[in-house]
Amino acid sequence: MSALQIEIDYQAISDNVATLRKHANGAEVMAVVKADAYGHGLAEAARAARDGGAAWVGVAQPREALALRVAGDTGRIFTWLYGPDVPAADLIAADIDVSVSSEEVLAAIVEAGRDAKGTPRVHICVDTGLGREGVTIHDLPALLDAAVQAQGDGLVRVVGIWSHLAWADQPGHPTIDLQAENFRAAVVCAEERDIDFEVRHLANSACTLTRSDLHFDLVRPGIAVYGLPPVADPEGNAFGLRPAMAVHSEVILVKDVPAGQGVSYGHDYVTPYATTLGLVSAGYADGVFRNAGNVAEVAIRGTRFQISGRVCMDQFVVDLGPATDIVAGDTVTLIGPEGPSARDWATATGTIDYEIVCRFGGLRDKDSA
Ligand SMILES: *Cc1c(COP(=O)(O)O)cnc(C)c1O
Repeated sequence: MSALQIEIDYQAISDNVATLRKHANGAEVMAVVKADAYGHGLAEAARAARDGGAAWVGVAQPREALALRVAGDTGRIFTWLYGPDVPAADLIAADIDVSVSSEEVLAAIVEAGRDAKGTPRVHICVDTGLGREGVTIHDLPALLDAAVQAQGDGLVRVVGIWSHLAWADQPGHPTIDLQAENFRAAVVCAEERDIDFEVRHLANSACTLTRSDLHFDLVRPGIAVYGLPPVADPEGNAFGLRPAMAVHSEVILVKDVPAGQGVSYGHDYVTPYATTLGLVSAGYADGVFRNAGNVAEVAIRGTRFQISGRVCMDQFVVDLGPATDIVAGDTVTLIGPEGPSARDWATATGTIDYEIVCRFGGLRDKDSA
């Protein structure tokens, strides 16, 4: 048996997208499935998202967009992360919507479009304040002029304008309104050039769930698609989302030890009383964060236990307490509805739940192979 079982509930992904559609209030949903769908499996997650009503799916890298076409996805697909060496011809041939952050990238797409059958559909990416992808407000007019020219020549269709928020997970942060204002100004700047957008899009998961005034025509939730709420929910029901990933392992040895027994390398944990130790057959080589020792929890038979001492390469230890009915062969829940959440693991290990699911999800293919 493999060290960790990574299970994905694809029905949860469909249901989450359906829930996000309700939150989106008439705006379409682009399910973001970059990074192997946050570790949940690119093609399978995209299929589940389509079943839930995602009119669009979005990926960072062109190769992911092309892989989705190969996997049989026939809907609108958007990709945004590349430089002037973008495989434009392949993307146009595959009828992928492409983002443009600079005149160099626009030129590459126009050039490839000359020989292609279809007319490339481009979305202008504006840096409204994130300081990451996108054309600056300063350079936007020149890029728009070039895009209008190319559209006039029949070489592209400018169908979208979009941006991304820096602080959406902190509702009320002043940069959100500032970026929204810059985005609206960018849209006006384009409309003055007679560009008529099919879709304007700004909202990630947090913005989709907390700022209905910023949905525009299309929202781009990622983390929420996988059932992980991006902000604390005032209603306390996690916005009706359901986590799609569960991670399990197994107790392989149970033994009684006296008080004062040092546990695992360096004896970072010492038993405070005579107790029973459980050995779990998963370690950092299997994706269990090494800094989870003495902080992260697992659940066994419905009870939560903190990992005792250091996580080793292939194993870790749990102090099961002096009177346990846990036996070798019992299931250990690292993440699941009956145990800790990805957020719990993130809090314990000093990261965000995005990284937790990407990490555990990265083990998925190996495991199922
Ligand atoms: C990752 C990403 C998203 C989704 O963000 P979440 O916080 O996971 O909802 C949306 N848009 C862009 C450009 C992204 O990079």
